[in-house]
Amino acid sequence: MRNDKEKIFVFETIDRNRNAMACLCDCIFYFGELGMQEFETSGLMIELLERAGFKVERHISGMPTAFMAVYGSGRPVIAFHTEFDATPASSQAPGVAEPRPIIDGAPGHTEGHNVNAAVMIGAAFAVKRAMDEFGLAGTLKVFGAPAEEQLVSRPYFVRDGYLKDVDVALHDHIASELGTVYGLRQYALISAEFTFKGVSAHAATSPWNAKDALDAVVLMDIGFDKLREHLEPSQRSHRVITQGGDQPNVIPNRAAVWWFFRESTAEKTRLLFEKAKKVAEGAAIMTGTTYSVNVLSAVWPTRCNRTMAEVIQHNVDLVGMPEWTDSEQELVREVQTRVNVKSHGMPTKVAALREAVQSVSANDSGEVSWVVPTGLVSFPANVPGVPYHHWAAGVTLATSIAHKGAVAGAKVMAAAALDLLMEPTLVAKAKETFKEEVGDVEYQPLLPPEQKPPLELNRDIMERYRPLMRKHYVKEKPQFC
Ligand SMILES: [Zn+2]
Repeated sequence: MRNDKEKIFVFETIDRNRNAMACLCDCIFYFGELGMQEFETSGLMIELLERAGFKVERHISGMPTAFMAVYGSGRPVIAFHTEFDATPASSQAPGVAEPRPIIDGAPGHTEGHNVNAAVMIGAAFAVKRAMDEFGLAGTLKVFGAPAEEQLVSRPYFVRDGYLKDVDVALHDHIASELGTVYGLRQYALISAEFTFKGVSAHAATSPWNAKDALDAVVLMDIGFDKLREHLEPSQRSHRVITQGGDQPNVIPNRAAVWWFFRESTAEKTRLLFEKAKKVAEGAAIMTGTTYSVNVLSAVWPTRCNRTMAEVIQHNVDLVGMPEWTDSEQELVREVQTRVNVKSHGMPTKVAALREAVQSVSANDSGEVSWVVPTGLVSFPANVPGVPYHHWAAGVTLATSIAHKGAVAGAKVMAAAALDLLMEPTLVAKAKETFKEEVGDVEYQPLLPPEQKPPLELNRDIMERYRPLMRKHYVKEKPQFC
């Protein structure tokens, strides 16, 4: 993998646009939009991609904030994809090593998806410019994937055929390191809401006339807890009650519980879900209610292809770690001390290529990784040792730490894409190793074929907070050149 002058060109392009990327990163940070409601975020990303010359298809898979931006023609077809949603009740002032919401209770970024988006746009812009400059053949498809926090969009993209002609895919995600891995990375997951319907009655004067939907939810809960003893310890299942009635003297005729079922393989997750449905059926029989299940999303575990990982690692080594200033390291150490993790600061060396250790978390990018050889670019912008979805994980996300990490991530992503565009043998090898890795596992979507995406997700919360959040939006707009 050489391509020296092309790589120098993309690195210069990204360096020249470091302020634009930083601005985009901060704009999305302050938008702080929850899954399926990322209208400002995806609007701005689409505007930038269109201005750069991409042809954008909006509302893909029927999701108002999803998009696919295409540039170029012919093979190979390389996909970039990433997420851009925030997390609820996570508002946090950047650059402050203590919990300090910008708006109390409002959503905010505590998993760095704002930086993910800036990395992908920066990389896409630079690759497109290199394709023009050097007359490179091939197609770049850039996917905006909404609602990652609820694991929604990519199983729908795969089901609806958007990845069909894609040869290889690159996903970027925030981390504390600059690096990549290969192998099975995360868990499969089914997200499903069970709704029980019964009959209301006055809870004091005629409870015997009721069929209590909330009782059914409670009995499903107890039933599933009894089942837990007989499940393999690898499973992780958890729930919240999303409807439980309105007031105590009216027996609820409707109640709902939202479950996440997680297992190490898609098949085990499917079987776990089947067992949960039996428990729900039992709860319905006991209470004389009826029930229905709505699968909000269902994803396969993420996996990373070895060849793609090697291509990425080559460029990780080439790009190297950002240089952190003393004040950046000081902020990171302050946060680490505050949350009682080792105060080592940001790493100063890139990570070596290694095999992934499967984690119980999930990401809907997993779906893509079973149909297309996929590589993951991890870039350093999160405080090491700090778990996501915690105020401390929001601190760096609109600071120079995230901005530098984003530049490094975008360079790696763009350079890896260049290698794949310019060396067809790499794409062929990725496909070959992908086949070996998947072996005899047959990809069968967990998502029901007729399932519609949950467009109402988070709407109420965003409607409540957006007017307050708007006052904090970044005034300028990113200008790529
Ligand atoms: Zn994430």
